[in-house]
Amino acid sequence: MEKISMKTPLVEMDGDEMTRVLWQMIKDELLTPFIELKTEYYDLGLKHRNETDDQVTVDSAEATKKYGVAVKCATITPNAARVQEYDLKKMYRSPNGTIRSILNGTVFRTPIIVKGIEPCVRNWKQPITIARHAYGDIYSNAELRVSGKAKAELVLTDEDGRETRELIHEFDGKGGVIQGIHNRTASIESFARSCFEYALDQKQDLWFGAKDTISKKYDHHFKDVFQEIYEAEYKEKFEEAGIEYFYSLIDDIVARIMKSKGGMIWACKNYDGDVMSDMISSAFGSLAMMTSVLVSPEGVYEYEAAHGTVQRHYYKYLKGEETSTNSVATIFAWTGALRKRGELDELPLLVRFSDKLEQSVIETIESGYMTKDLTLITTMDETVTLNSLDFIKAVRKTLENYL
Ligand code: NAP
Ligand code: MG
Repeated sequence: MEKISMKTPLVEMDGDEMTRVLWQMIKDELLTPFIELKTEYYDLGLKHRNETDDQVTVDSAEATKKYGVAVKCATITPNAARVQEYDLKKMYRSPNGTIRSILNGTVFRTPIIVKGIEPCVRNWKQPITIARHAYGDIYSNAELRVSGKAKAELVLTDEDGRETRELIHEFDGKGGVIQGIHNRTASIESFARSCFEYALDQKQDLWFGAKDTISKKYDHHFKDVFQEIYEAEYKEKFEEAGIEYFYSLIDDIVARIMKSKGGMIWACKNYDGDVMSDMISSAFGSLAMMTSVLVSPEGVYEYEAAHGTVQRHYYKYLKGEETSTNSVATIFAWTGALRKRGELDELPLLVRFSDKLEQSVIETIESGYMTKDLTLITTMDETVTLNSLDFIKAVRKTLENYL
């Protein structure tokens, strides 16, 4: 069989620990036998980040801006223990944080659904994608504890020194707490555009909820920004695509999500997204079955698995013990990126290959062959637990039947 050729290179960001091991297996077994893989390779493994003073992370993000599509392996975010373990020059920022701030993007997380791994919510038949606005609100707040009698006010000083004041509360001496939060219109606009872009890309409805009835300026501003951008830039495109933008109060959205059959993109303010993404991922079954894509307002895409580097499995692997690590989300990061590359470069064979590879993964699991994390939660009676490599080989076998 002739290998599928590519035009523009894909930005490839290699990573750490067990996912780095899976990365190579996926390339060897599922990609390079079928594709003349063309990537611009960046090694974001912690050792190389340290050698380059983390410049490699910045370079990989710049390359993503240039080419438009990247695929990323999970990476270690250093903490004190990692500084020792890898003898780091300093405690570098999270690579995802660095890349996100350069691309100014929003992260969309989507569960991969297979028969036999049933969501806790029975009526959810299609995936629910969560988009979290990862800027501001309580994540960059200012807080004070109040003791004694005190008057708390919001004070805004403009550049000419004029003050605007708003009473928060007059404390009666029995104590309490106050907090100040902010968001920037530009950040909300980027968030909104990323959400509208991704909804069009996925041809799925976009839902957004906030508490504008209670928070008449703060949350209302979010609502207005979304509505204005929708009317001015996306309304027609949405109508053409046959999809809908739907705004409601956050509690109404939550109630409707629970009763829905899924299949929508749910845009969340920062805190809502933090909380709801954990609810959605646990309700759908497994973190190992969750994909993630960073989408910039200009339509640049970076695909990855939502889970981390699976450190515990890696230490077993280093000791020569057998591991059964789930590679599904990492495979889907590759297929997401290859499909997007194929669409942009008009390479139907590459798009078709990505579809077939995803189908092969799902079919392999649905016929009972899976990694241990899934055997533990499946409703199937007869299953075969495979080790990390054998699962990938089983997917290859299914794929070869398809091609
Ligand atoms: P993790 O790597 O997601 O793993 C946590 C646990 O979840 C694992 O020990 C494993 O449970 C289970 N798990 C996750 N992915 C799995 C998979 N593919 N197959 C089977 N089981 C899986 O999170 P962590 O251990 O908290 O973090 C490890 C490192 O990853 C940290 O250095 C962190 O900074 C980094 N991280 C990176 C990203 C990213 O790059 N996007 C995201 C999160 C964390 P059992 O051990 O019970 O089998
Ligand atoms: Mg959370």
